[in-house]
Amino acid sequence: MSDIDVKLGIKTILERIEIACNKRIPELQCVKPQLVAVSKTKPNNLIIEAYEAGQRHFGENYIQELIEKANSSDILEKCKDIRWHFIGHLQGNKVNKILSVPNLYLIETVDSKKLATRLDQKWPEFSSNDLKLKIMLQVNTSGEDAKNGIEPEELVDLAKYVSENCKNLELNGIMTIGQFGYNLEQGPNPDFILLKKCRDEICQRLGWDWKNVNLSMGMSDDFEHAIEMGSTNVRVGSSIFGFRPKKE
Ligand SMILES: *Cc1c(COP(=O)(O)O)cnc(C)c1O
Repeated sequence: MSDIDVKLGIKTILERIEIACNKRIPELQCVKPQLVAVSKTKPNNLIIEAYEAGQRHFGENYIQELIEKANSSDILEKCKDIRWHFIGHLQGNKVNKILSVPNLYLIETVDSKKLATRLDQKWPEFSSNDLKLKIMLQVNTSGEDAKNGIEPEELVDLAKYVSENCKNLELNGIMTIGQFGYNLEQGPNPDFILLKKCRDEICQRLGWDWKNVNLSMGMSDDFEHAIEMGSTNVRVGSSIFGFRPKKE
């Protein structure tokens, strides 16, 4: 059995989220941040433990791993109300695979019109109800070539495209991974500042209410800072499930 206390981990992170939330400027405090427990590389029994502690939103970034976990009988049986977030890079040829995942809740990493269009066209074949598929647009806020995500300058156009042309999709927010290992002693994380700016721009240009556009930013090392900067969706893995050896 594992020596990781997942229940305590969830409780501790939720408390830290609450504290960070109360440090935000008053107008941001009205939006309660959501915790996505990132369970990649971790076994089902730890996911079930977190679920039993009340956690519902889980994130995975490898499609094959998500398919296996979401379809496994113990998860289907014990976690009936689980909500899967896909947070990895999605290739166009994997669209059918991702859409067939049971309890798929949100795809956080849509970054092109082509991908959005394909998801939009395919979703009715897979949806078991008339609900739209929730997506976020991933933004490359750090400008690193290797990072996926749309360039900030192209974001408004993509958001407009999705809202006007993709009737089966619900644009739920925008997401960034940001640069690794940013040292907070250098000041507020520029990726978080930029993502919030992107939201302000979308809302201003398209006339949307900012409260309807979530900001997915912040991981184990910086989720409290991200919340203070306006994050409404934090993706926390190792602080809940323990150290994760590097995967090839
Ligand atoms: C792995 C991962 C996380 C969680 O990282 P931790 O540092 O373990 O909290 C968050 N977001 C994405 C996109 C990831 O791939």
